[in-house]
Amino acid sequence: MPEPDYAWLPRESILDFEEIAVLADVFTSVGVDRVRLTGGEPLLRRDLAGLVSLLAARPAIRDLALTTNGVLLSKQAATLRAAGLHRLTVSLDTLRRDRFQALARFDELPAVLDGIDAAARAGFDALKIDTVVMRGRNDDELQPILEFGQRIGAEVRFIEYMDVGGATHWSMDAVVPRVEILARLSEAYGPIAAVPGRDSSPAERFRLPDGTTFGIIASTTEPFCAACDRSRLTADGLWLLCLYARGGLDLRHPLREGATREELAHLISTVWTMRADRGAEERLGSPSRDVLIPVAALKRDAHLEMHTRGG
Ligand code: SF4
Repeated sequence: MPEPDYAWLPRESILDFEEIAVLADVFTSVGVDRVRLTGGEPLLRRDLAGLVSLLAARPAIRDLALTTNGVLLSKQAATLRAAGLHRLTVSLDTLRRDRFQALARFDELPAVLDGIDAAARAGFDALKIDTVVMRGRNDDELQPILEFGQRIGAEVRFIEYMDVGGATHWSMDAVVPRVEILARLSEAYGPIAAVPGRDSSPAERFRLPDGTTFGIIASTTEPFCAACDRSRLTADGLWLLCLYARGGLDLRHPLREGATREELAHLISTVWTMRADRGAEERLGSPSRDVLIPVAALKRDAHLEMHTRGG
């Protein structure tokens, strides 16, 4: 959850499903073929399955995934699968109810576990658990979470704690680096082998001696900006080229003012061709690594928060 009393995006600025579908068509026309619905929390969107159906009906989107906090998942998992969603990722940083409440600011761990259970039964092509590892807060749960994933047939991905907008309590001391995660798991389970074929995926995959696979996203200590081919579209149509970007390209206004699909495609291609974003690499190289964006600035501009731009 973000800081209390933060700015909301005005409701009238939120794209409707038809507008999202038009932009999806424009993006696929210039080469995008994978879409992930994130948040904030996408399951809060009314009739989310309707949007999934719209996107799933587009053959140019060969991979349609969704990331959720899982709180509302138990009632929606089967519906989302039936609507055509391919893959699902659930964020889960702890299996301990007291910690969950402290981290998330609500007591919903049982609901999340029910949601994961429903997702495991719904038959998605892949089910993943995303765990942000924070020293002193949940880093003693690497094994329990990995083994939870084993039991339910989900692949766990450990994510280094990032200093993106909204991470107002971040410090380098709280980051558990990839090498340490690997060392700890190797001590517990034996030799760990790298799984080849990463491509542009943010996660490196590994295999335990018993065959269990897991991932690590080392965005903080070993950023992978050079291979990054991702961008983000906020709920109100701001196109962001990097998680760390201070601003983006507004697509809502041209869309609502009647720009043609060809004009929008040209705009997107032109901006993408000039893209030089290397947010995480620049942060790694910066001499002082204080909190990226102070709370006062976050409260003035919701677009700076991670909940508007998606993880
Ligand atoms: S920091 Fe920006 S450029 Fe680097 S991997 Fe993340 S989104 Fe891509």
